[in-house]
Amino acid sequence: MAPDGSRSFPYLSEGLVKLGSLSIDTMAGAEVVPLMSRILPEDADLVEAQTRRSAATMENVHVEFRFRHGDGSIRWIECRSTPKQEPDGGILWTGILLDITQRKRAEERVQAMAITDGLTGITNRQEFSRLLDREMERASRYASLLSLIMYDLDHFKRINDRFGHNTGDDVLKTVAGLVGDSLRDADLHGRWGGEEFMVLLPHTGLEAASRVAEKLRQTIANHRFETLGSVTASFGVVELAGGENSRSLAQRVDEALYRAKELGRNRVEARASHQGAQ
Ligand code: GH3
Ligand code: MG
Ligand code: MG
Repeated sequence: MAPDGSRSFPYLSEGLVKLGSLSIDTMAGAEVVPLMSRILPEDADLVEAQTRRSAATMENVHVEFRFRHGDGSIRWIECRSTPKQEPDGGILWTGILLDITQRKRAEERVQAMAITDGLTGITNRQEFSRLLDREMERASRYASLLSLIMYDLDHFKRINDRFGHNTGDDVLKTVAGLVGDSLRDADLHGRWGGEEFMVLLPHTGLEAASRVAEKLRQTIANHRFETLGSVTASFGVVELAGGENSRSLAQRVDEALYRAKELGRNRVEARASHQGAQ
């Protein structure tokens, strides 16, 4: 960075030219624009801020950003560089750029796995609980409606016993897919336990949530499975009450589901008021 603030690269290694699949002209020109313009817009501000901070404080730059490779692919790059004050008042950074794409992809896979149920591919219980807490906090802050549906497959033990565990697994996957396809983008769908699932409906009251549950009940019951014909599920529905915590909400929806089972299964039971919650 020259004293007037203009920038250039006095030296770019051959490795960097290869990493970016840049043309040799770019290297000879030492212009910052062709190289910097390859940084994805989402990350460009971060790189710029780090550069300015380093220029102001003379601290090292350490930043990770996405970069458009010459072949069109997106690469993750880690940049580490050290600034040095030049006699003319400019600043010279010396550093390295590493292609960390593989590491980033692996990290992303691990992150996705940590929040996903391995069998059905939907949100797992731990992540669903976290999202439930987040949505409950939002709902109470903005005084907005929030409803929770819990559903459980009917006589699922029989399906396993008659057709085997693998067929049972396939049923779980299919049901999770059918429900997922029927929900809106804002709705959250998670696997709560073995054959128990939850659906969280932001900005939705008890009546509308019950209609959603009824639609889901029909979608499942109307599906024809190749070997075993049809499968049904029972549904509990509750709406968040003021001052209620997630434990109470989960307990109430479980009770509503239990009543749907007691009353004959393949049905929706909604619980209007919250009794006994602190
Ligand atoms: P109900 O109508 O009262 O819900 O009867 P049910 O047989 O479905 O009830 P219960 O909850 O007692 O049994 C659930 C069964 O689900 C027991 C278990 O073997 C089976 N199950 C739980 N998780 C899985 C799974 O991941 N795969 C398969 N194939 N079966 C599972
Ligand atoms: Mg069951
Ligand atoms: Mg169960």
